[in-house]
Amino acid sequence: MYRTVRLIRIIISLIAMTVPTWALLAGYESVFVRMQILTALFAGVAVCLVFWTIVTIIYGRIYCSTVCPLGTLMDCISASSRTIRRAKPAYSYTPPSPRTKLIFLVAAIIAFLSGSAFLPTVLDPYSAYARMVEELIARPLGRAWSAVAFSISALSVAIITAIGVIAASWKHGRIICNTVCPIGTILGLGSKRSVFHIEIDPDRCINCGECEKVCKSQCIRLPQKTVDTSRCVVCFDCTSVCPNQAINYKSGRYRLDMPMMQEIGNRSTAQTSAEK
Ligand code: SF4
Ligand code: SF4
Ligand code: SF4
Repeated sequence: MYRTVRLIRIIISLIAMTVPTWALLAGYESVFVRMQILTALFAGVAVCLVFWTIVTIIYGRIYCSTVCPLGTLMDCISASSRTIRRAKPAYSYTPPSPRTKLIFLVAAIIAFLSGSAFLPTVLDPYSAYARMVEELIARPLGRAWSAVAFSISALSVAIITAIGVIAASWKHGRIICNTVCPIGTILGLGSKRSVFHIEIDPDRCINCGECEKVCKSQCIRLPQKTVDTSRCVVCFDCTSVCPNQAINYKSGRYRLDMPMMQEIGNRSTAQTSAEK
């Protein structure tokens, strides 16, 4: 079942990346632009942030695994990297970076509130993606329809963004999503205790490590059998590779079927009965 869900998720994310890209090249405005959180906030529409915050509190960071074109681009780059390098054990757990996240979030908020557009648009994932498409694809092809005239600073920001995104996601998957992106930091607060989340069943887990190897958010801590849901982007990659259905997307928490004390208690009861 998880393989089908994952496939549907990938198809939706590719559509959500391809349509706005085509729209940028063809000069149309796509509906996906209105679903982008920071872009909507810039336009003074806060309802988009409220909607996605509620969705995240219930279902986790689905926005990051389906709607954000920059996230999908990073997935394409990291998937290509794994294919080219033929490195199967691509990822392993890394500790979270709360300080880095906070610095970028606070800087973006201060810049936004003080009326400066530069930093928020550099950090806004959709603006960053659109700038790369416009400056690095549309303009060289003569398809740039944007009213914004050519500027060396926009081109420089687009080149630096592209280099940063490729370099980071080539080896570290979604590291930008869990350090630099202010939207990722905000949604991570909601997904930390989301109703539905990825969780490991300690009774079923056989410690094979397959889930950790494919987790591009590097948020599966196998020795503790925990998943940092604030960083998980609900991509279903881990659930699709588990050989024992031990990692699942569910509500509620797993409890050990046979906790240690319960087992000891049962043993002593059996011993007492045998002695009698
Ligand atoms: S964390 Fe930011 S860049 Fe990453 S997928 Fe989410 S919104 Fe996009
Ligand atoms: S893939 Fe499944 S069985 Fe293997 S370590 Fe992960 S949760 Fe455990
Ligand atoms: S924990 Fe699983 S669903 Fe979450 S990001 Fe990692 S691989 Fe994807």
